[in-house]
Amino acid sequence: MTKSGRQVIIHADHLGKTYGAGPIAVEALKDFSVDLREGEFVVLLGPSGSGKTTCLNLIGAIEVPTSGALVANGMDLTNIDAKAQTEYRRSMVGFVFQFFNLVPTLTALENVQIVAALGGGEALERSHRALSDVGLAARMDHFPGQLSGGEQQRVAIARAIVKDPPLLLCDEPTGSLDLDTGVQVLAILRAAADSGRTVLLVTHNSAIADMANRVLHLRDGKLVGDVTNSNPLSPSELSW
Ligand code: ADP
Ligand code: MG
Repeated sequence: MTKSGRQVIIHADHLGKTYGAGPIAVEALKDFSVDLREGEFVVLLGPSGSGKTTCLNLIGAIEVPTSGALVANGMDLTNIDAKAQTEYRRSMVGFVFQFFNLVPTLTALENVQIVAALGGGEALERSHRALSDVGLAARMDHFPGQLSGGEQQRVAIARAIVKDPPLLLCDEPTGSLDLDTGVQVLAILRAAADSGRTVLLVTHNSAIADMANRVLHLRDGKLVGDVTNSNPLSPSELSW
């Protein structure tokens, strides 16, 4: 627990990731220390190549750190076998990517359902609910190619939240959307944080930082700023 009373969900301590070795080694993330709490909407901001995706991939257990400590919901992600990694990703994390990554030959509902089924239980019912939550109740039977970019991203968010994970990791989720649809997507992510999830959103678009509770600045793999925003804007007030 913390002084704000909110549970720490991610604890990174001098975390580092180096790709390769010797003369071709790239230190993508260096000495990254941060605690992320339940219900926080955190924007990770930095130019291209600053280590944002690397950081997200470590927290999502897609990559393993090369130094430091990383604990997520009490689970040590630095010493973890492949099975536990998979279990962590399935139960703890929803991923949202820039290019949606939907299966083109499955409908919106089926795209969500295949992930929901991994969690067992009432997969169909939960998939319906997740798609309704992102405003796509009327589009469930459409294929990705029949949906706009913003709608496809909303399907991807439904897929990310259908198992009700405590953590949403979003890598440039508005990077291929125009302002209006980008703002709609951000409003859905904001609502996800308001319902208690921790949202970590990676972007190079500094305008999005104004809606965050907290902004982490990365430069050359180093955390150079950690700013709390006491009056975040609503997504509809953003423009870029
Ligand atoms: P960002 O998401 O901020 O653009 P990345 O985390 O993707 O930055 O990359 C940070 C640095 O690490 C860059 O120099 C990039 O080229 C390098 N990098 C990322 N992934 C790999 C990899 N799998 N192998 C080697 N270098 C990588
Ligand atoms: Mg990136």
